[in-house]
Amino acid sequence: MCNCAAYNSDELYTWCTNCGNYGIHASIKRALADKNIKPSEVLLCFDIGCHGNGADKINAYSVHGLHGRILPFAAGAAIANKAVTTIAFGGDGGTLSEGINHLIHSIRANYNFTFVLHDNSNYGLTTGQASATTKQGLEMNSSPSGVTSDTLIPMELVLSLKPSFAARTFSGNIKHMESIFKQAIEHEGFSYVEVLQSCPTYNKVTPHEWYAQRVYDVSTLEDYDSSDLELARKVAQDVQDKIAIGVLYLNKDKKDYYSRLASRKSIKTELVEEVKGYNVGNIIDKFR
Ligand code: SF4
Repeated sequence: MCNCAAYNSDELYTWCTNCGNYGIHASIKRALADKNIKPSEVLLCFDIGCHGNGADKINAYSVHGLHGRILPFAAGAAIANKAVTTIAFGGDGGTLSEGINHLIHSIRANYNFTFVLHDNSNYGLTTGQASATTKQGLEMNSSPSGVTSDTLIPMELVLSLKPSFAARTFSGNIKHMESIFKQAIEHEGFSYVEVLQSCPTYNKVTPHEWYAQRVYDVSTLEDYDSSDLELARKVAQDVQDKIAIGVLYLNKDKKDYYSRLASRKSIKTELVEEVKGYNVGNIIDKFR
């Protein structure tokens, strides 16, 4: 039984019936509660998109950022105060278009926070335009004759950058998502979690049932080794017939960004404490 009450908000959800966002929210709450993390000890950073409209639906510190730009915000917050658990959320629209550079550099830097990609293969908030993960040829609101560009498989991109943590799950299985979120939160470094999300309103091609019939957890494979990058790249490719979920790749030896900072090696205080002791009033006065 989940002890998630502290995370419940009085705000009413506005998502469509059966939207995958409901399950993702429930799983995040369960993961945080199960790890005994209090709402005052977590920062939830939401990008723009349908998922972002849930920013005030969880009782915790939260921010609702600019389209595609939530990763640098979360990175700054995670660096400034390591005592706070930072989790960022973005959709396939913002993250894999104007925000794709931030994803690449977050993986390179290995900032210490969790990133949850809500991949429903369309821009749901703006009524079903094609995103980078929409299947080629599919007729969408912005492409009535069918999507012309190649379809991006985000996990292939992520694994090509040698991440420290890369996992995949799907919004039809709350227990699986909860387990993956907990492992992502525990990981020290950038935890990339790809959630294959249903969008029953604008994505009729891949509902929960479609995923449920195709997914398998890599931990059920005999001899699957999550430290084998080439193996992860191999199983990640198929997103049509047999779809690999679970922790596909894990490298515990890769140091996170803050640990690599030579200038912070002997300093025990958090950056946020040092800022508190610095009077920026004089600088601000110059611009008055
Ligand atoms: Fe969910 Fe899709 Fe509705 Fe957005 S449009 S709330 S993603 S079902």
